[in-house]
Amino acid sequence: MPETLIKVDLSQSAYENEMVHNRWHPDIPIATWVEPGADFLVETYDWTGGAIKNDDSAEDIRDVDLTTVHFLSGPIGVKGAEPGDLLVVDILDAGTLKGAEWGFNGFFSKNNGGGFLTDHFPHAQKAIWEYEGMFTKSRHIPGVRFGGLIHPGLIGCLPDRAMLEKWNERELGLIATNPTRVPPLANPPAPKTAHMGKLKGEAAAKAAAEGARTVPPREHGGNCDIKDLSRGSRIFFPVYVDGAGLSMGDLHFSQGDGEITFCGAIEMAGGWLHIKVDLLKGGMAKYGVKNPIFKPSPIVPRYDDYLIFEGISVDEEGKQYYLDANVAYRQACLNAIEYMKKFGYSGAQAYAILGSAPVQGHFSGVVDIPNSCATLWLPTGIFEFDINPTAAGPQKMIDGSVDMPIAYD
Ligand code: ZN
Repeated sequence: MPETLIKVDLSQSAYENEMVHNRWHPDIPIATWVEPGADFLVETYDWTGGAIKNDDSAEDIRDVDLTTVHFLSGPIGVKGAEPGDLLVVDILDAGTLKGAEWGFNGFFSKNNGGGFLTDHFPHAQKAIWEYEGMFTKSRHIPGVRFGGLIHPGLIGCLPDRAMLEKWNERELGLIATNPTRVPPLANPPAPKTAHMGKLKGEAAAKAAAEGARTVPPREHGGNCDIKDLSRGSRIFFPVYVDGAGLSMGDLHFSQGDGEITFCGAIEMAGGWLHIKVDLLKGGMAKYGVKNPIFKPSPIVPRYDDYLIFEGISVDEEGKQYYLDANVAYRQACLNAIEYMKKFGYSGAQAYAILGSAPVQGHFSGVVDIPNSCATLWLPTGIFEFDINPTAAGPQKMIDGSVDMPIAYD
């Protein structure tokens, strides 16, 4: 077995683990060094560092302090990596930590995080998913069971100072256009809850005051939440600092395209990745790479029959938008939820299925003015009953006796 370079103890606070951090900043010290060509194991906390419990209450989702996320394992230094290189990362394998064979999905309160459909689902709710090997099902959402596709929601390299300043400038500029918006337009630095890895004292406080939050995807990758970055995939990351400083976390057991529920996919309570690293010297300029590129895995759960829902850029009130792919995808998702409700699911359960199961999202048309067209691909094989439209009409397959716990503000 390869060496475990970063270990986590789920019974210990993530803040006590120096090989973990929750901000992006070039001053965060490299936690451990490897040679190009090395392969090794990395263990990870869940993205909240253990704030969400395997129980039947959504109060932890409602009350979570989102300035604490995401707890990442790293940064791992690769000897010889220099700015302008591409770091080649193979995800050789991925799995669950012993004793943590479960995950959570939910929606944040609109007043504390929100989500893609927060105007329709403004209250905190939670679903717990348990694993059976590579499969998962939820005691809060009957009638579905599917194969997982474990992937890191978040993986990327440390920014250099110029890139960090660019991030802060543009995101603080966006917040300034509507500083009181709920949920906020972006997340500014939050030094109080920053964990800067091995950096301590005054240097840590100074870096924490400007450390970029881990919530958005950026040029370095970061929180891209791409379900296809699964075991067997190969990613090429831009390198900005000597050693690259690769960090990862936010492991998902499964996720639908868009991670629309925001909290989130099926968030793994604890997991590990088997990683191999290598370098393409000067690769950024050679290949014109600004954002990461990747190769998918040769292995995916095979759900090749779908019910596909269309959505156009006209919102719930009938307002016309100009080629707005976000509005169009929201309509496709809402159409899928309305459909699933006819089989007995609550709206919340249907929403959670779209966030958790291997659903696909596609941008089908973005030029046919004024409507962009997005599609939501719902795999029919995840349901334990026939979900296709028939002449007999939808059968109530779900009796409503269980639902996702809810916690009001
Ligand atoms: Zn996540």
